[in-house]
Amino acid sequence: MGVYKAEYIWMDGAEPTQKLRCKTKIVPIGQEPPIWGFDGSSTNQAQGHASDCVLRPVFTCPDPVRGGENKLVLCEVLLTDMTPHPTNTRAKCAEAAEKYKDHEMWFGIEQEYTFFEGIKPLGWPDNGFPAPQFGYYCGVGADEVFGRDIVEEHMDACLKAGLKFAGINAEVMPAQWEFQIGPLHGPAAADHMWIARWLLYRIAEDYGASATLAPKPVKGDWNGAGAHTNFSTRAMRSSIDACEAAAEALRGRHELHIANYGAGIEERLTGKHETCSYKQFKWGVSDRGASVRIPWQVAQDGKGYIEDRRPCANMDPYVVCRLITETVCSKVPA
Ligand code: ADP
Ligand code: MN
Ligand code: MN
Ligand code: MN
Repeated sequence: MGVYKAEYIWMDGAEPTQKLRCKTKIVPIGQEPPIWGFDGSSTNQAQGHASDCVLRPVFTCPDPVRGGENKLVLCEVLLTDMTPHPTNTRAKCAEAAEKYKDHEMWFGIEQEYTFFEGIKPLGWPDNGFPAPQFGYYCGVGADEVFGRDIVEEHMDACLKAGLKFAGINAEVMPAQWEFQIGPLHGPAAADHMWIARWLLYRIAEDYGASATLAPKPVKGDWNGAGAHTNFSTRAMRSSIDACEAAAEALRGRHELHIANYGAGIEERLTGKHETCSYKQFKWGVSDRGASVRIPWQVAQDGKGYIEDRRPCANMDPYVVCRLITETVCSKVPA
């Protein structure tokens, strides 16, 4: 009987930012990937004397790296009594999505990231810095763009895996890029994002590059990396008033969101480099210096979605989607 390779992927217990871990199980073709386990004492998820943690598959897709019958298996981590592990942020995200399912919340997440080769961003000179930021955003040409072959291979892989991938662009800082996932419901947007992140790390590995989600990878006059989170409820998709009410609801819990939008957020949300200071909350149409932006097209159409610009590149999409769902849906009628 034939077999396939199931790559189990899960979030570890690293602090302050959880990382991805993975390992392979050989499974007979025709069988679903089963519940499995791992050594939690090596991932900051258990003590050595009671080290077993449980992996429960939550999202499975074709493995575009290995091809064939092979699969990627995103898992949530459970305790051995089958309740969610304290590091399992998906469980609460799924709960919030279920509680407010009448709102039909959709998310579209923009993931910015930076390629590094050793200690410097990919393509940066050994001594000194590249030319100041200007020509790099959506640039073309060997003097403007670094890492495009990895970006293209990653995009193809995400499409082959069947992820809801929306697009890519080169970013403002050289060696910085973005891809977008969505729009998708509640935890699904985050599931797709975690798999897309894993594919990015895995594919960059073959090029000897690492992709970092650090929110301020280079100090000084260089852009940080964010994860703008676009969202809409059914009401927002039919009225601009609901879009504005959602933005106002976010104002009411600004500090809670800032505290959960990625470690190092103070370094990125300075009020410079297309950000609003983390100390302030403001929303506006087309305003890339606002915490929350209503896209021009949305104002024009009188309906659509809004963009929370505060989340950092290293945010946990389960946490961000849960917080936005709770904050907006508890204030704005479905
Ligand atoms: P920006 O202009 O900020 O760079 P992008 O084009 O990079 O915007 O990303 C926009 C994101 O918004 C995409 O991920 C897209 O899927 C998402 N999006 C579009 N419409 C909606 C909607 N109605 N609800 C939620 N997300 C949406
Ligand atoms: Mn974008
Ligand atoms: Mn961007
Ligand atoms: Mn954006």
